[in-house]
Amino acid sequence: MAKRKPWEEAGFRCPYLDTINRLVLDFDFEKACSVSGNNFNVYACLVCGKYFQGRGKHTQCYTHALQEAHHVYMNLGDGRVYCLPDGYEVIDSSLKDIQDMLDPSFTPEAVSTLDSVPVYARGVDGSDYMPGLIGLNNIKGTDSVNVVVQSLARVPPLRDFFLLPSNYAHLRSPLVAEFGALVRKIWSPHNFKGQVSPHELLQAIMSASANRFKIGEQCDPMDFLAWLLNSLHTALGGTRKAGSSIIHRTFQGSVKVTTLKARGEGEEEAEEEEATARELPFLYLTVDVPPAPLFKDALERNIIPQVPLFACLAKFDGQTPQEMMNGDKRRYIITRLPRYLIVHIKRFSKNTQHFLEKNPTIVNFPVRNLDLSNYVEMSEEERAAGASHKYHLMSSIQHDGPPDTGAYRAFVHFKANDSWYEMQDLHCNGVHPQLISVSESYIQFYDAAAA
Ligand SMILES: [Zn+2]
Repeated sequence: MAKRKPWEEAGFRCPYLDTINRLVLDFDFEKACSVSGNNFNVYACLVCGKYFQGRGKHTQCYTHALQEAHHVYMNLGDGRVYCLPDGYEVIDSSLKDIQDMLDPSFTPEAVSTLDSVPVYARGVDGSDYMPGLIGLNNIKGTDSVNVVVQSLARVPPLRDFFLLPSNYAHLRSPLVAEFGALVRKIWSPHNFKGQVSPHELLQAIMSASANRFKIGEQCDPMDFLAWLLNSLHTALGGTRKAGSSIIHRTFQGSVKVTTLKARGEGEEEAEEEEATARELPFLYLTVDVPPAPLFKDALERNIIPQVPLFACLAKFDGQTPQEMMNGDKRRYIITRLPRYLIVHIKRFSKNTQHFLEKNPTIVNFPVRNLDLSNYVEMSEEERAAGASHKYHLMSSIQHDGPPDTGAYRAFVHFKANDSWYEMQDLHCNGVHPQLISVSESYIQFYDAAAA
């Protein structure tokens, strides 16, 4: 009878567990072999952090184990750990923190307390962080992607959906899988440090958008957000039917558009203008900023003008006509508000020479209790009964600097401690809400206030 191997004996403990170095472990990057570049059956060497393919004889892991005397390897697909070159599986509860970092998982109970119980976590380097307030690497011009992810990752129904992979693992969409993985990392208390890299999501975005959005090129976050919402909706099986994906259930509202046809020359003045009304769904509302006047003060400095958000929202009052390029006029009024409202404050435009121009006008808005009642179609009875539509700001994306070389950051409200934070790539800092209401806000996310 063959002699039993030491690891087949009861009570055996892998002697190499102490060689694992958590400080070098990073699972945010593309899971590809550092030698062959292949991306299937990849393991991380838990001693030096490098990725290698395979664990059988003559594989990259096996060779690395012999050459470097690094013995502990984790399969990046399923989190199982093996000791090489012996080849036995290491089953030890001390590995759980690494498995949790590789693949953060949440119970429905844990998800349900994220907005009420602040959690403080400590990274392996001793730094403290709060799950939900995690910095994201800027991988060459990807600050515009980061601010969108930071905003979406804290919209409760969307976040809660993506924290539970059972909601979408069967879809086999890399975009959905990587977006979900990043949301889980942002909220995980098991990170080894208070920041993660969105590298794998960016790879999926580049692929799904056919390089329309890519590393190395800053995009317009509103273009990206619109694309991402539609792409996720479609990948999640959403259709034109109302509420057919978590994206539409969260953000979709509707607006009534009344078009007044321009009269041709020589036509008789009609008694009434011909009007056609259509009701259209929206995932965000776009408002225009009034042209910036070139005022100068007594010292000849340019004054940055300020307008209240309500002046921009007047577009949706159902009265103020908006002139179209062809001379038609349109009136807009909201017929249904979503629970979570996205407002796009249009401040970028291409001039006649196709250069990007930015309107720096500061838009003032209330951080709490933004009242949209004047822009929503309501019956006389509803108005008389004092029905209102109020929203609290959840996050605001803003642009700083010139249109082509500036940078984006996001102000986010953290519900669990009712505080505001500025998220700019890797940095997360507390901020006073008064600063947010006088910023060059570009995209805003609102939550309907409880009636
Ligand atoms: Zn190694």
